[in-house]
Amino acid sequence: VKEHGRNSMRQFVPEMGLNAISRLNMESALRRGLERSEFLLHYQPKIDLDQHTVVGAEALVRWNHPQIGMVHPVEFIPLAEETGLILPLGEWVLAEACRQQVRWREQGLGDLKVAVNMSSRQFRQDDLAGRIAAIIAVTGANPAYITLELTESMVMQDVDSTLTTLRSLKKLGLSISLDDFGTGYSSLSYLRRFPIDELKIDKSFVNDIHTDPDDAAIASAVIAMGLSLGLNVVAEGVERLEQIQLLREMRCSQVQGYYFARPMDAQSFAQFQLKKKV
Ligand code: C2E
Ligand code: CA
Ligand code: CA
Ligand code: CA
Repeated sequence: VKEHGRNSMRQFVPEMGLNAISRLNMESALRRGLERSEFLLHYQPKIDLDQHTVVGAEALVRWNHPQIGMVHPVEFIPLAEETGLILPLGEWVLAEACRQQVRWREQGLGDLKVAVNMSSRQFRQDDLAGRIAAIIAVTGANPAYITLELTESMVMQDVDSTLTTLRSLKKLGLSISLDDFGTGYSSLSYLRRFPIDELKIDKSFVNDIHTDPDDAAIASAVIAMGLSLGLNVVAEGVERLEQIQLLREMRCSQVQGYYFARPMDAQSFAQFQLKKKV
């Protein structure tokens, strides 16, 4: 499992990399990429610790550039945000995740929960709920099995408008997850006021959970708090069995990480079998 370490993420961007491309070229390449359908989604299983089953997947966008190859989201999401291209890209991601959910259902895999990441610009756009409702209607996806992952810092920006948007999303039947939890600053009172369903403990806390008592204490407190608020608590970035055993003792609901599987294409996901023990 050594080669599955953290550094192999780098392999995504080959030597010549995107550094060679100027910002302007990168912007037009992104635009062209959207027109030419160069984006795709990979899916990483979310595993329920009690039931020992795959409950769904997080959709993670990749850019298959004709010359450069697979480009990792950290390389293009920031520019997409800056230029506003994140809006059409984000709509494509959501629509594709919805279509995939329907395909899995048609393949006999049942309703799998699919989680989609939202950028802050996307979250703040006009009539977000209306746009999402339209995508759900066109694709025939099941909103009860769609989760939107929002970061903690994103929802804390303008809490009044956040609350309005969250309520309209909940009316559609969607689930809301607070991603990267613990890295930002959330007032606990908002955590209670926001209609959210899930907390995702950031992988920076999960990383050393088995070696660093401070991180273990934080994870344990976050899990206990999330559970007491009736939320689903997910730990991301689990790479070792020791981490999972600890998280299970802390009563964490679900885990996601390289220990079980890396993000993979939709077909591989459909064939994925949970072999590793938890
Ligand atoms: P994120 O939402 O926190 O997603 C988790 C990231 O951790 C993913 O990286 C995933 O591949 C990686 N990961 C999963 N398991 C492990 C593990 O065990 N160890 C380690 N070290 N990493 C693990 P990825 O796919 O490169 O995505 C990076 C970030 O890009 C995401 O962080 C998310 O913020 C953003 N992103 C990805 N797809 C989208 C998208 O469709 N829209 C938007 N707005 N942002 C996206
Ligand atoms: Ca996420
Ligand atoms: Ca995260
Ligand atoms: Ca420490």
